[in-house]
Amino acid sequence: MSRTYLAATSVTEAVSALAGGARAIAGGTDLVVGARHGKAPIPQSLVAIHEIDELRGITGSGGGVRLGALASHEEIVDHPVIREHLTALADASAIVGSHATRHVGTIGGNIMNASPAMESGGPLMCLGATITLQSTSGTRTVAVDELFTGPGRTVAESGELLVSVDVPAQPAGTGSCYCRLEYRRQMEIAIVGATAVVTVVDGTVTAARVAITALAPTIRRVPEAEAALVGTDGGRVAADAAAALAASASAPISDVRGSADYRRAMAAVMTRRAIEAAVARATGQSVSIPASPALHGAV
Ligand SMILES: Cc1cc2nc3c(=O)[nH]c(=O)nc-3n(C[C@H](O)[C@H](O)[C@H](O)COP(=O)(O)OP(=O)(O)OC[C@H]3O[C@@H](n4cnc5c(N)ncnc54)[C@H](O)[C@@H]3O)c2cc1C
Repeated sequence: MSRTYLAATSVTEAVSALAGGARAIAGGTDLVVGARHGKAPIPQSLVAIHEIDELRGITGSGGGVRLGALASHEEIVDHPVIREHLTALADASAIVGSHATRHVGTIGGNIMNASPAMESGGPLMCLGATITLQSTSGTRTVAVDELFTGPGRTVAESGELLVSVDVPAQPAGTGSCYCRLEYRRQMEIAIVGATAVVTVVDGTVTAARVAITALAPTIRRVPEAEAALVGTDGGRVAADAAAALAASASAPISDVRGSADYRRAMAAVMTRRAIEAAVARATGQSVSIPASPALHGAV
């Protein structure tokens, strides 16, 4: 069977190719690199979307943003609204791969690759983000919280193209953080990751969202940990209690990067660090981006 490759210049052209059985390729840092490593062969029919201007850019309104599917990790880290108001997402994009990976890798590809270890999923889930999917039948919106169904799997149909990601403005007094356990600074994926988004009013946590990464077949929220934080001062005792619940909710695997027991233990550490940094940011303290290295050495 012969291979086909189309470099689409419009969303209409791209979704029509998807309807005909093609697979989208944006930066290719998952699809092509994965094929080279023998994860899955390059699809017979590809539609490249990197020349579609409609899919570019990041626009901010209030404290929220709309990310075009082609927004790169580098653009995300540099965006002032994201750095100031949606900081967990900046933490995540700042540690994807290397400079080259962040330059070429897109938010659309990161999401639709649906790795349980991918960086942006926890922050997008906890910040209440939604994606817009377009096909030849029209468009629909899906909450990132409801998107992932398993490793490499989402509720999206094969004919649907992710066109944009909307991240809403957060309430006043909200801080967020994503941090991961990593063995080296670059070219690494999360061994364990955690996201926390907290709203603090007059010293009390009034809302909290917590998600764990690389600890289950999909990135997932931990409602028990969120409930344990609300009504507290968000200090060490509360963070430890929520972190223990996040560790209990994890279902990690053992592989070359770490045993399941080690991952579960680190789930508590990473979750507590994410909560502490989110509370610090919510209360006006400065925590550098990305949060992960700044937190190394913390106890
Ligand atoms: C050396 C290296 C290090 C990396 N480190 C990290 C890391 O630390 N953390 C991390 O999270 N990831 C990491 N990655 C993975 C990858 O770089 C990111 O996931 C990146 O964001 C993928 O974007 P892309 O545009 O290259 O995706 P592509 O490879 O083009 O596509 C990935 C998947 O998404 C689909 N797709 C792409 N765009 C769309 C769309 N708009 N609509 C529908 N489907 C779409 C493709 O069909 C494919 O299945 C690394 C990759 C490499 C090579």
